[in-house]
This record gives sequence, C-alpha cells and structure tokens, in this order.
Amino acid sequence: MKYRLYIFFNNWQEGYRFDDETNKPRTVKIVASLAAVCCLCLFVFFAFLNRQDVDIYVDGKNVATCKVPSQATVADVLMQAGAELSYNDSVYPALDSKIKNVSRVDIFRAREIAITYQGEVYLLSTSLAGYGALRQAGVYLGDSDSLSVNNDGTQFSVATEEKTEETQVIVLAHESQTKENNQEYKDYKKVLTEGKDGSAVATVTTTYINGQAVKTEQLITEIISTPVTEVVEVGTKERPMIKPPNVTYASGGGAVSRSYIANVSAYCACPICCGIYSNGYTATGAKATQYVTIAAPRNIPFGTRIYIPYFKDAPNGGIFVVQDRGGAITNNRLDVYFDSHRAALNFGRKNLEVHILE
Ligand SMILES: [Zn+2]
Repeated sequence: MKYRLYIFFNNWQEGYRFDDETNKPRTVKIVASLAAVCCLCLFVFFAFLNRQDVDIYVDGKNVATCKVPSQATVADVLMQAGAELSYNDSVYPALDSKIKNVSRVDIFRAREIAITYQGEVYLLSTSLAGYGALRQAGVYLGDSDSLSVNNDGTQFSVATEEKTEETQVIVLAHESQTKENNQEYKDYKKVLTEGKDGSAVATVTTTYINGQAVKTEQLITEIISTPVTEVVEVGTKERPMIKPPNVTYASGGGAVSRSYIANVSAYCACPICCGIYSNGYTATGAKATQYVTIAAPRNIPFGTRIYIPYFKDAPNGGIFVVQDRGGAITNNRLDVYFDSHRAALNFGRKNLEVHILE
C-alpha cells in the first residue's frame, strides 16, 4: 500500500508539471489517486471500528477487559492482557479461536485434587471438576459407584456399593399391648396373654459400601409361626393419700409413720392356710393369736404395730402386731390371723386403710 501511495504521489506531481499532456488522463489519475486515499482511510477507520471489548475471567471472576481487533485470537487477547497460563489450566474458547463474536475468555486454574477410589488415592492437577476430573485421572465409575466431593472441590471419594442376598430363618418379635383397668391401682400389672416370638423364612439383602455393611433388608417369603402379642393389664386408679387419723390408740398409742391402702387377706393355722407351717406358731415363735397376730412383708419388722381402722371395734381396737410372714405377703399385702378357717374365709380379701405405728 505504501508503495502504491508513493507511485500515486509521483504521478500526481508529474501530472502537475507536464500540463502539455491531455486533460483526460490527468483527471483519471487524480480520481484514481483520491479513491486510493479514501480506501486507505476507510480501511483504517473500519479496522478501528472492528476493535472490540473482551472480558477475561479467571475461575469465574472478571480480572481484565481488553480492546482488541476482531481478527485477533484468544491467545492474542491473553498476551495483550498479560494473563499467564500454567500447565493444566484450561481456557475457553480454545487459544487459537478467533475473537470475533466472543466477548468473554475464561481461564480455569488447575488445582491439586485427590481422588479416593477402591482404597487407592489418585493425585492430579486439573482445572476440571466432577466427572471430568475423574476421567482425567482414568477413573470411570460403574453403576454401583457414587461420587462425593468436599466443599472446596479438592477431595473426591468414590463409594462402591455391593449387595449380598441370602435366605435365612428370622425371628418375628412379638408386640406388646396394654389394657387399662380402672378398678385396679396404678401399681397393678398382670400379664393376660403371654407374648411369643414367631419365625419366618426371609431373603436378607445386605448392602455394603466400600466393604462396610450399611443396610439390611428382609423380605419374608414364608411364615413359619406367627408371633403372639403380649397383653398386659395395668391399673389406672390413683392410690388415695390417707390422712393419719386423729385417734388416741387404746393400747399404748403411738405416732403414725406411714399410712396407705393395703390389700388385706386373712388366714388361720390350718393346713389349707399354712401348709407345712400349720402348727399354730408364728414366724417369731409366739403362738398365733386372733386380734394380735398379723403377717406383713419383710420391710415391716417383727413387733411393729399396725392400726387398721376397719377393726377399730374389735377387742384390739384395730391394732395388730407383726408376728408372721408369708410367701405371698409382699409389697402392700397384709394377712390377718383368725382362730377359725371359716372366719378367715368370711373376711376374704379387702383393700383397707392401714397405719404403721412407730
Ligand atoms: Zn385356714
């Protein structure tokens, strides 16, 4: 172009100087020369117009903006911006792409990542994330593999899942059911139906992740015996709080240390009531005496006096002395001694207010 421009100036000067030449060629020369100048100006002008802005991003962050000619390549842009690339960094679009119609160039910096797969650790430097990084490390996941990546994306671990299946006889645990009875006190509990476990044939599937059992599923294929649900009856009635009565006790008196509702039964010295102990003597060695002898649980010492208001009109004024024990006399049970079996039968069994005297 420069060369042609030189020719043009020469011609133009010559044209000026030798005006003996015909007008026509000279005019053509001038027009041609002017056209050439215009072309040059237009070229420079359009070349200027064709410059465009390109944003450069590193790991998603805008770090620079460059003005470059459209025919530049991505590599030119990065060079102009002074952006340096390290081995394993990746650039998008590719370095040799023309910048025309591109407004953004992305650089993804390589990071050191560790991939744990089937007990091995693979280290690599890559700008790729997720499965791309795995492929770069030559790790290809199977259907039973799953990938997890830590928060900063540098630790990859692949979990391999395996399943085993076997047929087993399994226990079917019985359930338990509670039945409320508002006629009994809260500490009352009675098993109405004994619970029993059942059994069944099942396909047991165990899931292992990296060799560790994490889940077991049972699919019952045949029931051998059905479990029996346990039914337990429980009392719901509140045990009433007894206020110590304001009474002066006939024989010796004494303060009340404890009052409650006892389940009181009766007995005599016969073999029906006492079995092999039917000799008429109490556990203390004293002879059993009506309106004196009472059998109480072990937590009430021998000699303790118990006032039972139900018997307040009896010769003892309702006060008995603990002299005997009984295999069935536990917790809040008491057993009152009578001289005759009939009298004991007549008394039967009663929930009575009782007061333990000090
Ligand atoms: Zn008896």
